[in-house]
Amino acid sequence: MEDARRREELVAALRREGSVHDDAIAGAFAVVPRHRFVPDASVRDAYADRAISIKSTDAETLASISQPSMIARMLELLRVEPGNRVLEIGTGSGYNAALLATLAGERGHVVSVEVEPDLAERARGILAACGYDTVEVVQGDGYAGYPAAAPYDRIVVTARSGDVSRAWWEQLADGGRIVVPLDVGLGGEYAVGFVRAGDELRSVGIVHCLFVPLRGHEEELEPARIFTRSRALRYGTRSRAVRGVVAVRTERASPDMLEHADVVVARPETTFGVTWD
Ligand code: SAH
Repeated sequence: MEDARRREELVAALRREGSVHDDAIAGAFAVVPRHRFVPDASVRDAYADRAISIKSTDAETLASISQPSMIARMLELLRVEPGNRVLEIGTGSGYNAALLATLAGERGHVVSVEVEPDLAERARGILAACGYDTVEVVQGDGYAGYPAAAPYDRIVVTARSGDVSRAWWEQLADGGRIVVPLDVGLGGEYAVGFVRAGDELRSVGIVHCLFVPLRGHEEELEPARIFTRSRALRYGTRSRAVRGVVAVRTERASPDMLEHADVVVARPETTFGVTWD
């Protein structure tokens, strides 16, 4: 079968370029039929290492199935284990939800929230047709998470966000992981993988990325909410790579975060202490 061969080639390419190290993640890419989630693309295009738009207006792309290497890097940061309860924000095609379900196994549970009713409906249909019955697709605003099935061991956001929402904090178990494409107003967008340690999120890995924005949450950052120890650091930000991020709820943030970070960005829900290379 052509699709099985293409999947094998894709997995080999992902391993070769270093996007995948974990055998379980490689195994998931080897079995989930990506072409079923993008029926308008040829089998060949479906397994190329490219994003494919699945919904757009004249002006912008509203949804796309991400590039496999980007999904792989985010899954490596997320580290889903068998039996995990997983929340995905941004179902899109449903492909990543199928990978998550494969990694979480029969005892796991995946909730995926999608704001666009037609995409939610479509993904629900394909996931059911492919037999992913541990996935629940919920139509709604993912910024509010999905409290009915919380707490989650893992949360993965697949749209760009300027903040870590209150709901994600409340619904993530202690010791759990969240991966979120963040643009906190310093220039650049990074998928940051965090582990929760009590009241803190500590980054464990950071990947450069490009996602469509989370709809309804695209407000601009007020410049006054960025703090640095020196002006030099402030103006150097665009040329530096992010090394680490520690995040706390903004209501609990204190000025001494600057002792451990080069830049501190206070967003409405979460304050980020960022360290540069
Ligand atoms: N994970 C998807 C790709 C997601 S693309 C896949 O595997 O195909 C980003 C998705 O997030 C789009 O489908 C978009 O409609 C959705 N989205 C955007 N804003 C959202 C919001 N506020 N809540 C939930 N979903 C949202």
